[in-house]
Amino acid sequence: MNAPLFHQALVDNLADGVLLVGADGTMSAWNCAAERMTGIDAAEVLGRVWSCRHLALRDEEHRAITDSDCPIGAALATGEQVIRRLELRGRGGRFVPVEMHVIPVFEHDGELQGAAVVWRDVSSTLSLEARCQQLHELATRDPLTQVANRAEFDRVHSSFVAVHLERHSPYSLVMVDLDHFKSINDHYGHPVGDIVLATLARLLKSFCRLGDLVARYGGEEFAILLADCPGAAATHRADEIRRAVSELPISALGGKHISASFGVTEVRPGDTPQGMLERADRALFCAKERGRNTVVYLGPQQTGQSLAEIVTNLRHAVTGSAR
Ligand code: GH3
Ligand code: MG
Ligand code: MG
Repeated sequence: MNAPLFHQALVDNLADGVLLVGADGTMSAWNCAAERMTGIDAAEVLGRVWSCRHLALRDEEHRAITDSDCPIGAALATGEQVIRRLELRGRGGRFVPVEMHVIPVFEHDGELQGAAVVWRDVSSTLSLEARCQQLHELATRDPLTQVANRAEFDRVHSSFVAVHLERHSPYSLVMVDLDHFKSINDHYGHPVGDIVLATLARLLKSFCRLGDLVARYGGEEFAILLADCPGAAATHRADEIRRAVSELPISALGGKHISASFGVTEVRPGDTPQGMLERADRALFCAKERGRNTVVYLGPQQTGQSLAEIVTNLRHAVTGSAR
């Protein structure tokens, strides 16, 4: 069997671009796919010394690659393989995203002979990745407020309950409902109401820490999932948010203020996601009953507590245990 003939047929018919470079950088092979992708004929490059300028290589951020940062130069200098996502100037001047693989080639005695370079057009992979990302956002994000949607809330809340119970770590849920929002719609119109919802969502997000989640639960009701946060701390944080909401002048309302009510609860042994949600909802209901613009915590004893009551109870607990 004439092996070189087979190798040549393989390289000629590959869908990936192939370039062979000697140790001194001289280009000795440029296959049909390389010609097709770049619009550069083999005759234009063979026998010349490789430079990044031949392919106008750029990195993923579209910055030009210089010869000092060239993957082929790096592989020849270090003798190590290099795999990099790059862009090259394709036929007609359009840049094509590629994955370039540079393989140093050694003689049996270990002397570097040059490098075999293979690159693959990854446009379709990238557009698939972008599409997947787009679909993921469509499936998980509320388009008006840009926070997580109800489906994402359900998924993350269930997983938080399971994970925190298993780890015996605290997890708190805060339900937030705008006060008298219907009258805002009635006075200023639905589009202004939409702006108010988006403004509130941004503010809620600004109070979140890494690992927390804000979701639009529905209409003018939001949920904040506070990872690793005990009920007392969650109530305190909810009260800070409540104050910030009530102090924020809303330009779409001519500088007027809004307010919101908050229901807080903490996960407890034996809880289900639904049970915890119902408790937070009951706490929110209590907050509305108590005149709105307030925070109510509903603990294991099932009675709603305000922040002041929690602080008093904690003081009693500390004093009691000190005795
Ligand atoms: P409360 O203090 O008891 O919560 O009173 P409220 O007026 O906020 O509550 P109610 O449930 O009576 O009204 C909620 C309103 O929220 C009615 C509905 O039209 C409005 N709403 C729900 N979703 C949207 C939305 O996407 N955009 C706008 N602009 N309004 C919405
Ligand atoms: Mg409301
Ligand atoms: Mg509501």
